[in-house]
Amino acid sequence: MPLAHATPETIAQAGMLLRSGALVAFPTETVYGLGADATNERAVAAIFAAKARPHFNPLIVHVSEAAEAARYAAFGTRAEQLADRFWPGPLTLVLRRRSDCPISLLASAGLDTVALRAPAHPVAQALLRAAARPLAAPSANRSGRISPTEAGHVADELGDAAALILDHGRTPVGIESTVLDLTVEPPVLLRPGGVTLEALEAFLGPIGKPAPEGAIRAPGMLASHYAPSLPLRLEAAAARPGEALLAFGPYAPPPGFAEVLWLSRSGDLIEAAGNLFALLRRLDRPEFSGIAVMPIPDTGLGRAINDRLARAAAPRSSASPARA
Ligand code: AMP
Ligand code: MG
Repeated sequence: MPLAHATPETIAQAGMLLRSGALVAFPTETVYGLGADATNERAVAAIFAAKARPHFNPLIVHVSEAAEAARYAAFGTRAEQLADRFWPGPLTLVLRRRSDCPISLLASAGLDTVALRAPAHPVAQALLRAAARPLAAPSANRSGRISPTEAGHVADELGDAAALILDHGRTPVGIESTVLDLTVEPPVLLRPGGVTLEALEAFLGPIGKPAPEGAIRAPGMLASHYAPSLPLRLEAAAARPGEALLAFGPYAPPPGFAEVLWLSRSGDLIEAAGNLFALLRRLDRPEFSGIAVMPIPDTGLGRAINDRLARAAAPRSSASPARA
């Protein structure tokens, strides 16, 4: 996989690759990130495929500065103060998406919130300017493996998934960013990281306890996670009265559905993942009796799609326990 020293030329090339929908790995002050244009659903889906994630976790979206963040999310006084003090730097803020937020719903894993951070690393900053897009970028490792702090780690882990790896030696902080949820009162620390709890509390006053180990690994469990109001029926082979259909693959859908939208007509799982949350929302309308979904192959990204659909189809009364 192409590994290139970060120079103004390779950063400009990386910016073009990102705008064309390709993935680029780049250094931040925390760890190397696997970046995609956060406004491109398909590019964001390709991150999940490359990392072989079995679930759709929400991704951190990197921005150049607070003024850009304020275009995507409700950026209140407290967010402004935190950004003044800690940005650029290893602090990620979870904020409400603005209604006109152009960031992929998949990057939010279907939530109404988005996690934003302005990285301090000069290569990350230069790349954000070159791409002129917000960049979704989780750590550039396969799911469940250790975060990469050198470009060589990324090359070893990710095969050909990234079109380019920008090499700038070892990342200075070496642990992930602190994730702070500002959508609740008081704010809650979702993940400890590069900005210490002490530094945050000195600035903000007391904040909510860190989530128990493992909880942040399964944001699909969050109570606020989007589930359609309509009942969802999986592996649908025939229409029921009034149902809408999420179709998949190059086969004629069963007749009789009130409306049909395609996750992917060609049967492309990456395209389907990119469309999943947006299409679920589009079909979640009271004129339908329910949403039926055609069978999705349980391979590659299909596993994450089926995991998410199974959660959305599960009975709503009790919080379902974590699935493996
Ligand atoms: P990574 O992108 O791999 O560094 O991980 C992102 C971290 O931020 C994970 O722990 C996510 O669960 C958390 N995160 C990202 N977006 C959100 C969000 N909208 N709500 C809650 N947690 C989030
Ligand atoms: Mg990670």
